[in-house]
Amino acid sequence: EISERLKTIALLIPKNSILADIGSDHAYLPIYALSKGIIRYAISGEVAEGPYQSALSNVNRYGLQEKISVRKGDGLTVIQPEDHVNCVVIAGMGGGLIENILKSGRKHLDGVQRLILQPNIHAYIVRKWLFENYWRITDEKIMEEDGHIYELLIAEKGNWDLPEEGREKQLFFGPFLLKEHSPIFQKKWEREKNEWINILNNLQHAKTADGIEQKRRKLATYLQWYEEV
Ligand code: SAM
Repeated sequence: EISERLKTIALLIPKNSILADIGSDHAYLPIYALSKGIIRYAISGEVAEGPYQSALSNVNRYGLQEKISVRKGDGLTVIQPEDHVNCVVIAGMGGGLIENILKSGRKHLDGVQRLILQPNIHAYIVRKWLFENYWRITDEKIMEEDGHIYELLIAEKGNWDLPEEGREKQLFFGPFLLKEHSPIFQKKWEREKNEWINILNNLQHAKTADGIEQKRRKLATYLQWYEEV
């Protein structure tokens, strides 16, 4: 049985898709999406040997070699134009790594209609990249499983009309999540706020060093945003 997190992601994939799951690890997501009839073909991309082998053996075990192509390679480079991939999932990594994968492989995204991104942390970095590269967030989800809170971002090609006023705050909290203001959202940001306060308290005792004042200001800004929303 796969995690609720991966199931939720699978339900966001457009029906009949050709999927690329980047950083696929055990290939659980494409195997599940195929078995549920959500997709018709998948590329399972992995950069690391261990996870790549694990994806290969799972795909073989389910006899899905014809339907899932397991490929070893860095990020989006495993996607070729002749694959006609229309949906890309990048899940279970930090926002910085997701941004890096998007940035360095963006020419492989031609023809891709939907991105489903699940940064474990630093979703802001991912939203910022999307905004600056003409990918519009069309929906967001937030969920909790085993004490972890996960944010899911769905983006489609197109201009994203995000007024400059308040833009950073929207990118930080997520426009849809901010509007929805669900109990899990509130829980997440209360946790974060408590962490910022802790860090600020610790900084108070720290010897002055490069960057500390900058860090303090950043945390103060986050706290102010927290109060505002
Ligand atoms: N996507 C799965 C999920 O959400 O459950 C697996 C997440 S796992 C924690 C992250 C995987 O991403 C690892 O297997 C790692 O090898 C892979 N990875 C990291 N950087 C990558 C890159 N540049 N290209 C492809 N895979 C990468």
